[in-house]
Amino acid sequence: MSNNTKGTIGVTSDNIFPIIKKFLYSDHEIFLRELVSNAVDATQKLKTLASVGDFKGELGDLTVRISIDKKKKTISVSDKGIGMTAEEIERYINQIAFSGAEEFVEKYKNDAQSIIGHFGLGFYSAFMVSEKVEIFTQSYQENAPAMHWSCKGDPEFTLKETIKSERGTDIVLHIDKDNEDFLEEQKITELLHKYCRFLPVEIAFGKKKEWKDGKEVETDEDNIINDTQPLWTRKPANLTDEDYAKFYRDLYPMADEPLFHIHLNVDFPFNLTGVLYFPKIKNNFEIQRNKIQLYCNQVFVTDAVENIVPEYLTLLNGVIDSPDIPLNVSRSYLQSDQNVKKISSHITKKVADRLAEIFKNDRPQFEEKWNDLKIFIQYGMLSDEKFYERAEKFALLTNTDGKLFTFEEYKDLIAENQKDKDGTLIYLYATNADGQYTYINAAKAKGYDVLLMDGQLDIHAIGQMEQKFEKSRFVRVDSDVVEKLIVKSDVSEVNLADNQRDALIDIFNSALPKQDKTNFIVTFENLGAAANPVFITQNEFMRRMKDMSALGGGMYSFYGDMPDSFALVVNATHPLVENILKNQQEICDEKVAPFISQIAENQKNIDEIDERNKSKKYDEIPQEDKTSKEELRKKIEDLKAEKRQIYADYVAENKQVGQLVDLALLANNMLKGEALANFVKRSVEMM
Ligand code: ADP
Repeated sequence: MSNNTKGTIGVTSDNIFPIIKKFLYSDHEIFLRELVSNAVDATQKLKTLASVGDFKGELGDLTVRISIDKKKKTISVSDKGIGMTAEEIERYINQIAFSGAEEFVEKYKNDAQSIIGHFGLGFYSAFMVSEKVEIFTQSYQENAPAMHWSCKGDPEFTLKETIKSERGTDIVLHIDKDNEDFLEEQKITELLHKYCRFLPVEIAFGKKKEWKDGKEVETDEDNIINDTQPLWTRKPANLTDEDYAKFYRDLYPMADEPLFHIHLNVDFPFNLTGVLYFPKIKNNFEIQRNKIQLYCNQVFVTDAVENIVPEYLTLLNGVIDSPDIPLNVSRSYLQSDQNVKKISSHITKKVADRLAEIFKNDRPQFEEKWNDLKIFIQYGMLSDEKFYERAEKFALLTNTDGKLFTFEEYKDLIAENQKDKDGTLIYLYATNADGQYTYINAAKAKGYDVLLMDGQLDIHAIGQMEQKFEKSRFVRVDSDVVEKLIVKSDVSEVNLADNQRDALIDIFNSALPKQDKTNFIVTFENLGAAANPVFITQNEFMRRMKDMSALGGGMYSFYGDMPDSFALVVNATHPLVENILKNQQEICDEKVAPFISQIAENQKNIDEIDERNKSKKYDEIPQEDKTSKEELRKKIEDLKAEKRQIYADYVAENKQVGQLVDLALLANNMLKGEALANFVKRSVEMM
């Protein structure tokens, strides 16, 4: 090669520069990362050569230096690395061989990372921000002349010999008009902090500053912007808890202290190091600001790790570093990459192992932190079968007394006393310790244990445990009267005549509040004098479906629109209810008797019409019959309404019914506003 070369950069497509300039607008800032990592690589290579004896000269100061010249509008990146010979420039810089470029660029035009990665165009990213780029380089090889390469962002370049006193490479960027903000010191400081703060070779950006006589002045000392031996590259045995805590503070200055850390260190079948932290997660899923950072040989790549670690692990904080993750390719590619899959499952295993270890070695600490860990562990168990298998040994259940149990322990605790007549183990739970207080107490009085399931993911966890646990069911403590939560034998039939039953239904219905989207059905049980006279329960299935719909589950939205339906359970064998039954018979029976007989008569007429037309299709039934049946029905409705009014009048007089219903509502936190005020007033009157 002659001393003075002019040539065309070897691209098969007409020109790479328009591509770089035009399409790669989103990630301009990564040019700095690319140039600084090249400088670091060149330095590391020289060190390697020296260590194997292929380079015998003085290494000297190997600091990589970044500088800005605002007047000349240049940014320089200088290293004391291996440098390049003329041939190497020809080979590594001039020959950018690629094919099918246009198609590829069209596909990835918003993703500078993948274009750069695809073509190995790290160096050329300089043209994203420059109108001209120069290389001054002196190879470590003896007798190789220093070279000056210059290119103005078109395929033509010049390459000639030059004088350069020191070994290494200076890359000089002449920043173009549109990118002058990169000439601000503040901006470069930020970018160096973001991408280069853990690079393995010292990087200096200007000089350290200090305050002197109220002014900021430069010192002689280099302003080193990086930590060349970040925590994750060091041996865990040489590190203290405080080291880990400090590193966490460095990464996330605003965050609370983490709960635990995990030091990852794998070299087979892939390379991976890193430190992950369990942060204190607030009870609601706040958007995670402190994300896991991904590095490739200590160069920051991204904090969007969604495709590399399972979703629940994105709740963790910390650093992962791997040269084996194909970092510069598109996201969809990452998902299908086998290495990435392996890494992901490895991290899952490590995280589970670490939790298991803490649980085993320091259960009190684990329990103390359970509240913070819970949402993370549940999330993992719900979304990752493998994680469930590991976590079921240390995941905990909390009961309403605040005691913590493993799944196994809890099963043993309730095995004796909470099996129903079919041998199904019934897990009782409450979702609100205060709101369901009376039910919890009633269950405890029967010797049952009640779990507290008031966490964000508990509904889902319950569903999962029901599937996983053998012959087990979860029943919310207020979903039925305590006698029926765990049905141990067939309960005796309620012994009420139809008339009595109808009367009590009308009576209690008229004492219930009329609310939108709330239905009550009056039902009866024989529970005796020891139980409450009147209860409110909510159907377990229906309530769960509604809970799911509130959490936004698509298929459950149907249930969300349904009214809340409750059962008002009347304990027919409670003395107070027996009293009401007797009392209303005395007062109402005579009054309602004519209505009952009229209703029965009308009903008889309907039955006769039906009997006549039994074998006919609807069309064949005489219009006359249809009309009279319609009239009879209406009559019955009117009669029933009048009968109801008699009971309503009775309830208005007899304070006991209203009082019993209000007490039941009160126990469920359902007595509010005016109804509550009336209750208080009535209570005083009754005293
Ligand atoms: P990559 O770094 O992915 O190989 P680049 O386009 O960034 O792609 O660099 C191409 C090559 O140019 C490098 O592999 C290296 O051989 C050479 N090179 C770039 N910068 C330097 C430098 N500062 N010192 C020595 N060689 C360099």
